[in-house]
Amino acid sequence: MDVYNPANNQKIGEVKEFTEEEVAGTIDRLGAGFPGWSARRPASRGMVLYRAAETIRADVHRLASILTAEQGKPLAEARNEILGAASVFEYYASIAGTVGGSTVPKSDYGYAFTSKSPLGVCGAIIPWNMPALIMAWKVAPAVVTGNSIVVKPAETTPFTNIEIAGILHSSGLPDDVLAVVTGGGETTGAAIARNRDVRHISFTGSVETGEKISKMVDAGRVRLTLELGGSDPMIVCGDADLDRAVAGAVAGRFYNCGQICTAVKRLFVADSVADGFIGRLKAATESLRVGDGAAEGTDIGPLNSIGGLQRIEEMVEDSIGSAKVLTGGLRPDGPGNFYAPTLITGLEPDSRLLTEEVFGPVLPIVRFGDLDEAVDMANSTRFGLGASIWTNDMRNASKAIDSVRSGILWVNRHSRIPPEVPFGGVAGSGIGRENGPNSLDGYMVEKTVIVSP
Ligand code: NAD
Repeated sequence: MDVYNPANNQKIGEVKEFTEEEVAGTIDRLGAGFPGWSARRPASRGMVLYRAAETIRADVHRLASILTAEQGKPLAEARNEILGAASVFEYYASIAGTVGGSTVPKSDYGYAFTSKSPLGVCGAIIPWNMPALIMAWKVAPAVVTGNSIVVKPAETTPFTNIEIAGILHSSGLPDDVLAVVTGGGETTGAAIARNRDVRHISFTGSVETGEKISKMVDAGRVRLTLELGGSDPMIVCGDADLDRAVAGAVAGRFYNCGQICTAVKRLFVADSVADGFIGRLKAATESLRVGDGAAEGTDIGPLNSIGGLQRIEEMVEDSIGSAKVLTGGLRPDGPGNFYAPTLITGLEPDSRLLTEEVFGPVLPIVRFGDLDEAVDMANSTRFGLGASIWTNDMRNASKAIDSVRSGILWVNRHSRIPPEVPFGGVAGSGIGRENGPNSLDGYMVEKTVIVSP
């Protein structure tokens, strides 16, 4: 399979496509590696992650340039993502020794306690938008709890995942505890989902693929975590700090060329401040420099694939009707999958830009009168991943906390996902949680023991 640089569509390398038999063989090998790894002390497993994090930090510039070449993001963002992956490994290393059971007070049946053990071979299916970070979210909890894991990178971004796996191996993770299988989703990815020896599948990607995977797995035996898409609302109240909100909207929408599951995908702004806010947002958006992520000074790189670019173009065309494009709305001349950062107002409520996930640098803006109206609009899609409210009034924040449908809600920021906190969606945005101390439980089975004296 060929891999291309999205800034110029030149081929940068190729990877093998693993067949179903080869995937099964890899899973058998990981099954053989599991008993030895799970018998190691948790702290010794954590040390492997610490060592890997140290190497990743020392190697950040090389890893970032690999990520930029295959994904497209500016080098500064690539470095942030690589360092973010190192932080995830450090976090899980730091909680390695916390894996334990619980005890129940003595009762008429005697004493009871629980004991937790790893599951066996796990599977991770990774998207292309944040390949390093999302790989770390899945690999770290799996291996620190004593499981082995097979990783399937996205077709367009295999090299970052292969490099990180190499660092984990050279840090002491045995070859038969972690393996990367490259290939297509319908082929190599589906071979993992269908394999009956895989005990946990963690998938991040589109709603459509998540639905397919949940039909492929044997629900009685397999733990399934689905981190799917979102259409995050950002609600800017009349009392918000507008400088912060403008900066938050620009970063929230245009970071990674808008290709983040928790990007700001719909912006709702109070009528009372809308004109001033939109004017400042437009100026800030127009100051962004679009270009090759590898070039100095680039703020926004290309979209990762031609398909993704075409989808954005179609969504804008289908939605435009009587709406007004404030800036952008076009593809700059020249090679590469570039799309200008775009702001649009005056959309019909049922337009594709307000009802589907917009995975690119296009921000629809809608005005609202009172907060109830904004909350209703925020809750009007099938998604429920992230959301933010920008306000200095605790009553507004409290209303959003209670009534916006999302798995994570930020007040006066958007899209920060530290490894210490649980992350995941509700409604159509997925099932299960990654990160935070409880994520370890997803990779273990708990046995209850009752001792009757
Ligand atoms: P995608 O679903 O097309 O692909 C994701 C991964 O699944 C790739 O590795 C792909 O090869 C694999 N895959 C595809 N079909 C498969 C199948 N039938 N069986 C098994 N594996 C298969 O998604 P994408 O376009 O790569 O990623 C973008 C989507 O991911 C967006 O919707 C975005 O919101 C979502 N996303 C969600 C999160 C989150 O944490 N919730 C994070 C990042 C991205």
